[in-house]
Amino acid sequence: MTLPTPPTRRRFLQSAGIVGGASILAPSLIGCVAPGPRWTRDPFTLGIASGDPRPDGFVLWTRLAPDPLSADPATPGGMSSGGVPVAYEISTDPSMSVLVRSGTATALAEDAWSVHLEITGLPPGRPYWYRFASGAAQSGIGRTMTAPAIGAPLDKMRFGFVSCSNYEVGYFSAYRHLANEQPDLVVFLGDYIYEHVGRRPGVRLHSDGVAAKDLRTYRNRYAQYHTDPDLQSVHAAAPCLMTWDDHEVQNDYANDLSETFDDPAQFLKRRAAAYRAYYEHMPVRPSLSYPNGPDMRLYDRFSFGDLIEFSVLDGRQYRSSQACYARPNNGGGHVETDASCPERLEPARSMLGPAQEKWLFDGLAKATTRWNVIAQDVLMAELRERQSDGRIAHWTDDWNGYPACRERLLRHIRDASVRNPVVIGGDSHTFWANELKLDPGGPTVATEFVGTSITSYGPSYDAWVSYLPDNPHVKFVDSRQRGYVAVEVTPQRMDVAMRVVSDATDPKATLSTLRNFIVEDKRAGPVSA
Ligand code: FE
Ligand code: CA
Repeated sequence: MTLPTPPTRRRFLQSAGIVGGASILAPSLIGCVAPGPRWTRDPFTLGIASGDPRPDGFVLWTRLAPDPLSADPATPGGMSSGGVPVAYEISTDPSMSVLVRSGTATALAEDAWSVHLEITGLPPGRPYWYRFASGAAQSGIGRTMTAPAIGAPLDKMRFGFVSCSNYEVGYFSAYRHLANEQPDLVVFLGDYIYEHVGRRPGVRLHSDGVAAKDLRTYRNRYAQYHTDPDLQSVHAAAPCLMTWDDHEVQNDYANDLSETFDDPAQFLKRRAAAYRAYYEHMPVRPSLSYPNGPDMRLYDRFSFGDLIEFSVLDGRQYRSSQACYARPNNGGGHVETDASCPERLEPARSMLGPAQEKWLFDGLAKATTRWNVIAQDVLMAELRERQSDGRIAHWTDDWNGYPACRERLLRHIRDASVRNPVVIGGDSHTFWANELKLDPGGPTVATEFVGTSITSYGPSYDAWVSYLPDNPHVKFVDSRQRGYVAVEVTPQRMDVAMRVVSDATDPKATLSTLRNFIVEDKRAGPVSA
């Protein structure tokens, strides 16, 4: 069976049983000039976005950038003057005729004229539409939602998860097709941008031609991605949950360590610039995520009624270094056998850092939702990679580099009897459907699905297939196509569709479904559908 099918109505709204909140009369922006300057160029070139859906609100985002790729460090996005007023409206209908909230925020130079509105006080479990205006300029209209109340019955929810959108090597047709599915939610699992410039020629260029390394270049990289119409369409279609992987900063970085062995103090300055630019371009909650130097809290938990809870993790900021990192030419991830790198197995090593591990374990132990999704950046399942000499090796940058941490997590999931744990991930530019186990022949503790890249090149399919005999818990692997994963959840089951685009180098690529899996309530593991 192929799921999800295009919705005819907002099932999310219907199932939440709420068809209209109290509306208040507010002056419409239609036909009016909002406060703000007299623009000579459209300031809404980066689109709009929403995120952080809660039972009483969400975050709305935009960034004013009349010249989005300004080369002048003194005028990011083509802006130079101080605070700029940005009006907003929130409506219960797509034509913006029934306003429930409106107001004016101020876009500040220190935030690169981004706006993060933390909206609260709205009724739960229904869709909303929003837009921005400044002077005579207006943004497009986006759709968002409030989550159903904690514990409220919810009989269906649809979400997509995405990762690895390299602008240079393809067009973002996969984002456009996901937007067309009108999911309730989109989960971004990292590599939203790529900081480097490609070695092989792609279909389009990172405009500045240099690897992002400071605030100006990270800002312009994020801005360029946000100018993409397909990326704008997926943000306008649904609220999102955000986490990052490595390329938001640098390939295979770990905490304060760069793959190029930069002095950690220097690397933290780069990380601070990258995190700040990330904040400025994402609909994340300022009260949680406003960056503080090189630190930015991103991990968070999101509940949707009694149906599903997402624990969104940060797999980069707090992790131990990759095992055997310090050897010459060994920066970032690499393949190690147990003999070549016993350090990989050390029990103190963590993918999450102690505070996040505790936060995750506490949350999972208290979870009462039917489905419990751990949304994070990289492959979690063990992957035994048999080398040409017959020895077994592991990749050190994903959870295979942190096996003690993975074992703690899976043991906790089992011991706390977490209901229907499902791990989702990205990074590997490969679809995976896996059983997560504590012991190779033992029971399945949790289910894992990994999505392929939106555009980034896939690794060798033949290599993945050659590893399968040593990894019977891997039920499916395919790195040959680009796309995303669409999920429909009901109390009885999770339907997972691996969607692929016809050609990531074709801006008009069409969509098809590669494979479908289901996960049944109280039965861990992907089942082919
Ligand atoms: Fe990637
Ligand atoms: Ca990655």
